Amino acid sequence: MRTRSDPRITHLVRRTSLVLVGGACLFAAASANASIEYRVSIDKSAGELRVAACADRDYARLELRAQDGANGYLLGFSRSDGGAVARSGDRLLARAVPDGACVNYRIAAARATRSNGRDEGMQTADGSWIVSPGVWLWRADEAGVLRLDLPAGMRASLPWRPRDASRTTYVLEAGGGDWPAWAAFGNVDERIVAGGDGTELRIAVVDAPSRQRADDLHGWLREVANATLTAYRRFPVRSAQVLVIEIGSNSSSPVPWGQTTRGAGVAVELFVRRDASLKELRADWTAIHEFSHFFHPYLGNSGRWLSEGLASYYQNVLRARAGIVSEAYAWERLDAGFGRGRNSATGVSLADISRAPRRRHSRQSGGWPVMRIYWGGAAFWLEADIALHRERGIGLEDVLAAYSQCCLPEAGRVDPDAFIARLDALSQSTVFSRLARQHSTAAHFPSLQSSYATLGLRVESDRAVLSSDADAVALRNKIMGERIAPTAFGAR
Ligand SMILES: [Zn+2]
Repeated sequence: MRTRSDPRITHLVRRTSLVLVGGACLFAAASANASIEYRVSIDKSAGELRVAACADRDYARLELRAQDGANGYLLGFSRSDGGAVARSGDRLLARAVPDGACVNYRIAAARATRSNGRDEGMQTADGSWIVSPGVWLWRADEAGVLRLDLPAGMRASLPWRPRDASRTTYVLEAGGGDWPAWAAFGNVDERIVAGGDGTELRIAVVDAPSRQRADDLHGWLREVANATLTAYRRFPVRSAQVLVIEIGSNSSSPVPWGQTTRGAGVAVELFVRRDASLKELRADWTAIHEFSHFFHPYLGNSGRWLSEGLASYYQNVLRARAGIVSEAYAWERLDAGFGRGRNSATGVSLADISRAPRRRHSRQSGGWPVMRIYWGGAAFWLEADIALHRERGIGLEDVLAAYSQCCLPEAGRVDPDAFIARLDALSQSTVFSRLARQHSTAAHFPSLQSSYATLGLRVESDRAVLSSDADAVALRNKIMGERIAPTAFGAR
């Protein structure tokens, strides 16, 4: 499977207490109460990452924890005040830590990058380190700040939100367990794409072989990020990390693998074929698909048809709006997807598929009938979008914009029914619950005939034929019509 958005949920359940708290409140709380500062430095020649976790008040008991297996990379630990530190599994425990004292520890970061393909780290072509924070940041559950002190010539991309424009201090939310996520150190070219209301994507290209290649990759992703902004002109997340890593691959896709992780805020990793041309990258849908996952909360396996459906719908809609592809082409791609969904898992409803353990569908790709889930979900969002325009005079993006303002958590799972109920409430309609019930309980892929008729859309021999009926044209324009490019937004 080329993409996935499901993080390992065991690491997220601990963070569910954050779900109902707005992002702005969290930010304020983190700043006001930050009581541990993690000072991070690197000894590149030793392959070591060093952390001093320093208290700014007295602690009777200070526990720092890391992800499973992290103790295999822990080289040593001590206290600046000479007190005792004990390790138990993937936890460090210190008692009676006075204000100003630090727990110091050293991590074999270079070795963690050689665990390629596992949960700890990845090694890149030019020797940059990509290491899971769960390996190198043994931290307390409470909020804190992380301060970077890198050697000359080394730069970083971290999954946390920078505290200020200097981008050397990052905000650690309460809850701990900042994984799955990735931190990159080394030849890292991070550039910011700004959206409205202070939102941003921190796009980091790791180990680009040349300045020209870095410029090309950044140009491509700025275009994709701006396409995301055609929904409601700001990003659904305050500050998200996007990591771009080049790989050698025989895949026919220019982006053989992309994923969204939600361990330390929402982040996207894109693995780009080293020899992929800019033209191939601009034609590919993986990046806009992953960025579209910013619009919804983590919905778990039972909500996967909603999350993958939204990303599959928007990967076409947003590219058409940005003028990256034509409207007709976007309809053709949607129609082709619906065709694949229609031929997958016939006789079984999305609700059944979502309830069933994955192994029951083990003959399907990834253990699940992926095409039915992705395109069955996309059909739901298309019909919801049409219904909103007809019944409420608003678009799906208006409802998602309102959702992002009031309710969208960056961590923690949201129950799919609660998500749908909230979208109903925000749209002052029953569009979402009504259509979700229809789409999730039908044993076959829905006939979209009446929606196609409303849109004035036919597809003949894989080519979209669009009617010139005024109502149909107006509706199609509201969904797919090219938006004025958000020129106010760009690289900062
Ligand atoms: Zn996806």
